Amino acid sequence: MASDASRRLARLTVDLNALRTNWRIFADLAGDGEAAAVVKADAYGCGAHEVATALAHEGARTFFVATLAEGLDLRATLGDAHAIYVLNGPSTADVGAFGPARLFPVLNSLDQIGLWKAAGAPVAAGLHIDTGMNRLGLNIAEAGAARDALARIDVPLVMSHLACASAPEHPLNQRQRERFAEAAQLFPGARKSLAATAGALGGADFRFGLLRPGIGLYGDNGLDTPAPTLAVVATLDAPILQVRDIPAGATVGYGASFATPHQMRTATIALGYADGYLRAASGRGYGVLAGARCPVLGRVSMDLITLDVTAAGGAAEVGARVEMLGPNVPLRDVAAASGTASYEVLTNLTRVSRRYGGAVA
Ligand SMILES: *Cc1c(COP(=O)(O)O)cnc(C)c1O
Repeated sequence: MASDASRRLARLTVDLNALRTNWRIFADLAGDGEAAAVVKADAYGCGAHEVATALAHEGARTFFVATLAEGLDLRATLGDAHAIYVLNGPSTADVGAFGPARLFPVLNSLDQIGLWKAAGAPVAAGLHIDTGMNRLGLNIAEAGAARDALARIDVPLVMSHLACASAPEHPLNQRQRERFAEAAQLFPGARKSLAATAGALGGADFRFGLLRPGIGLYGDNGLDTPAPTLAVVATLDAPILQVRDIPAGATVGYGASFATPHQMRTATIALGYADGYLRAASGRGYGVLAGARCPVLGRVSMDLITLDVTAAGGAAEVGARVEMLGPNVPLRDVAAASGTASYEVLTNLTRVSRRYGGAVA
């Protein structure tokens, strides 16, 4: 039951059935291999506890997070049965925490390998080889030294990450694939993983043994093109706090940046940049109410947005909820209006209340 207080808040509804449908797509693409689930950043804003629980029920066995803290939380959620890799790897300060929680660090440098060995390598670890992104991972030239250093260490996974997977034709993809295939030969006993969402959808060449989809689970294909589409997982709506009819020539919001060209009905909703709806969507975003498109008028403020609800007629009343992201307002449109990527749209949604649709088991 929604309390009166929660009725006046923006709300993110996460469809766990859609989430599972999307994970299944990657599991099918993996064929004889496996689809992991990337649940870093609180499962891209969708709630790591609920997301990981649902995907574990669906059959996911391997999970990736970015940080140790995320790994510890996820271990508490999942119990002991699943593999959890921590992408950022260990530091001097925290290396001791991996073993007791059975978290597998991804080792990204010879220094991290040294640290892991000095700590007694209490559990398995992954190895990340940088093949062209120049972000995390060992250089190709260090791979031989890594093999020697890891000779008696349990390393069931060797991975790399594509810089340009969103554009499958980009020549760097093939170069990275070749470098990865060659370097991975040094670790014949390890499973290989190169593809995140876009790499997995972009072509069989990139799939290897373990897929690491993140954004694809949450509904965006990660590619520069809209196809293929995935199931919509996240829906954001916000209640109308006030409706007003304003004449032509009036202005709306901070900076008076929007002036009404004609008389308009406006609605002010309980959503703003402090909730994670980016201010960059000022004058560009839109919502949908009763099938009508309702443009954002003027600036997004901290807690409020004013929409043109003229087209929504009588549906525009206090308490009605306007969809600001979801089946009628695609994630990509919100990202484009905000000058950013779907990833940032989702991970920003912090102050909103969350609820879940679709059965967990
Ligand atoms: C975030 C991340 C992923 C998931 O990427 P998506 O594009 O969201 O599928 C996979 N691997 C690594 C190393 C990552 O950092």
